Amino acid sequence: MADTFYRAHVLTPHCSGWRDWPDALIQVSETRLTRVGPWNARNRPSRYTDLRPHLVLPGLVDVHAHVPQLAVCGVHADNLLDWLRKWTFPLESRFKGARARELSRRFMREMLAQGTTTAGLYTSAWPDSVGACFEAAEAIGIHAWIGPPLMDVGPYRRVTTRQVVREMEDLASLDRSTLRYAVTPRFALSCSTALMERAARLAADRRLPVQTHLAEQPAECAEVERRFGRPYLQVYADMGLLTPRSLFAHCIWLGARDWRRLARAAVAHCPTSNVFLGSGVMNWRRAKVARVGLGSDVGAGPDLCIFRVARMAWAVHSLDGAPPLAGDLMRAATLGGAEALGFEAEVGSLEAGKSADFVVLDRDHIVPPGAPSAESTEDLLSRVLHRAGRSAVRQVYVGGRLVLENAA
Ligand SMILES: [Zn+2]
Repeated sequence: MADTFYRAHVLTPHCSGWRDWPDALIQVSETRLTRVGPWNARNRPSRYTDLRPHLVLPGLVDVHAHVPQLAVCGVHADNLLDWLRKWTFPLESRFKGARARELSRRFMREMLAQGTTTAGLYTSAWPDSVGACFEAAEAIGIHAWIGPPLMDVGPYRRVTTRQVVREMEDLASLDRSTLRYAVTPRFALSCSTALMERAARLAADRRLPVQTHLAEQPAECAEVERRFGRPYLQVYADMGLLTPRSLFAHCIWLGARDWRRLARAAVAHCPTSNVFLGSGVMNWRRAKVARVGLGSDVGAGPDLCIFRVARMAWAVHSLDGAPPLAGDLMRAATLGGAEALGFEAEVGSLEAGKSADFVVLDRDHIVPPGAPSAESTEDLLSRVLHRAGRSAVRQVYVGGRLVLENAA
């Protein structure tokens, strides 16, 4: 197949800082980027798609979202445990069969419409919901972690521990390089010690990623301490779930020692969800020891918009007295998220060799006509951070294929 060429304003993170090329060439060979750099007379292809004046960024990365929960976005409850009981579990218990297949496809479409092309996802506990989500993700060609939330105690119990373990081990055969089967203990309170230990053993034996929730709300942390007689992160560490392939969502109620231990792991920062449920504010400065990505945490987050998540991070940390740089937040929304999921060699930035996953943003939505022309890259990133959203997304490409087009 002949190579495909695009001309656009390219804005992408790379190993240190950002590349900002107002006039750039993107060359795609089948599914991969083979060249990304400034446009010049020497590299000028005879045929190309001219995307100027629009901006091309790498597809965004949402490191933490629950596929069955899109339908409860925006429905409020007073706290996490009530919200789970009242809204989430009834919805997840019905997420299976044809309903799971249909809603998984819709979830993927909505994710793409928000500019997101890589994700860390929880399905429902039903085994066939995992297959449904793998199918929907594979049909588009995205990179993702996918796993069913493991639960076997108290109100969280669906079937016996033995049955949960059997299902988990069977589903692990779905694991492949672009779509990872993630071992997903929902959180410490939903799991017996035996289940967490078996989950950790499976992850170690098959080198599978691990995703779970950690220290989201004080009442949850207190209940973990009461039940296990030790701090939250210590529970996961003792079970064997604190590994270099582990991704912990929220990480709000942690001390300095916890953060030192998290340096080898990854963190999903979910500020829209944390504000919505009144959970608190993660320590952004301390979190920098770990690999940090952004998570919509749908359905506690209001939608799948990672731009909105990045903006909320900017707001809550600015009110804390330490406004993060737009470039740092947009990095967390792209390459940082890819690093958190272990996909940094494949996605997260526009560099030769990576999958051609990119999003075309309408320039007028980002930079209003008539704006001053002398803007730095950080100024442009600030505009993207504060102004981009679903309505700015014109096109989304995954593996070099146009998978979504919004009307101008
Ligand atoms: Zn969550």
